[in-house]
Amino acid sequence: MAAGSPLSYSSYRTYLECPLRWRFLYVEKRKEAPRGYFTFGRVVHSVLEELVRPYVVPTGRRRGSSEAQTTLHDWGAPAAGAPTPTPRTLSPEDLLAFYDRSWSSEGYTSPEEEARYKALGKNLLLGYRELLERRPPTPVGVEEHLEARWDGIPIHGYIDRIDRTPGGGLEVLDYKTSRELSHEDARESDQLALYQVLVEANYREPVERLTLYHLRSLTPLGTPPRAKTALETLHVRLGEVADGIREEAFEPTPGRPCARCEFQSLCPEFRPVPPPEEERLGALVDRFDQLRAEERRLGEEMARTAEELHRAAEELGLHRVRGSRAVALRRREISWQYPLERLRPILEDSGVATSTHPSSPEEVRRLLRDSSLPAEVRRRVAETGSRRVRWYWELEPGSRGSD
Ligand code: SF4
Repeated sequence: MAAGSPLSYSSYRTYLECPLRWRFLYVEKRKEAPRGYFTFGRVVHSVLEELVRPYVVPTGRRRGSSEAQTTLHDWGAPAAGAPTPTPRTLSPEDLLAFYDRSWSSEGYTSPEEEARYKALGKNLLLGYRELLERRPPTPVGVEEHLEARWDGIPIHGYIDRIDRTPGGGLEVLDYKTSRELSHEDARESDQLALYQVLVEANYREPVERLTLYHLRSLTPLGTPPRAKTALETLHVRLGEVADGIREEAFEPTPGRPCARCEFQSLCPEFRPVPPPEEERLGALVDRFDQLRAEERRLGEEMARTAEELHRAAEELGLHRVRGSRAVALRRREISWQYPLERLRPILEDSGVATSTHPSSPEEVRRLLRDSSLPAEVRRRVAETGSRRVRWYWELEPGSRGSD
């Protein structure tokens, strides 16, 4: 994939996780070993496409606001008096035969794992088929490839299903074969947001609903379409990714994806230490690790000692305690907190210029000293404050016998 090529959701996500991995996959076109889970998802998606395609209303796509909406009943309009045709999907036998033909053994770690996945797919597809018969959908597109230019950024994607809702709107559906899926996943899915943009750009009408479809439980997890601000945020992130690709910024970004990254042997982050240096550098790492542990232990011990000293000094009313080499001086630091959510309404209600709200406690203290402000406002502002006192110790050279 060259710079300037349309960004798909998976390409965008791969770049966000690790730009170097993106380069291995999209520039150098390196292949990753197949994985059973992905093979399974691909096969299930292709059978679902075959299952749902008969329901598609080919002309259900509204091409302009002036054109009338085509409905399922307009599809293959029957002669007067003839019964309305119902779409014919695959019979259970044909479905399973198609599933068998589509099946691929690529990437499974054992015959048992493959058999488990195959049985899961069979149940899930038969269940889905039954659901289609009971509640026929009104899709206007399945596995539709859409492209768009989103304010200067070329994007594309394959949309699992686009439905016409009973109210005449559009619903975007994305199938998921994952074990767990929640409404929160659907609400936060950048993939659905990107599909919303693609569908709206191509169909020229707003999307009414975004849905992640959890196939294992045959549950649609629907959410309202993304608001303008959420889309703007996504657009900014996509723009950053597109800029990074154009500028060939392919730095490794180690993190969670490294565990499943197959390019560790090519990645500078995982470059092995040359054998002659292995022992020396290994010893330095051990020493560093030891010192870190010691630093933590000393930090905890210092905090405990200061606290014990503080309690004793408080009890005896002391501010200065001598040791054999140093004098500990008890110091006090006072700070004020003014929660903005309480401060803001007071300033706004009182008509005080609010274009800039005080952003620090020091600014509020200045405001309180400002005699041009009504005394009542200053009183109310002062009431929002809470005072915090922190005690700490300072050490000075000196000893018990030094006076
Ligand atoms: S090993 Fe980690 S840092 Fe290196 S390319 Fe893969 S994901 Fe990126």
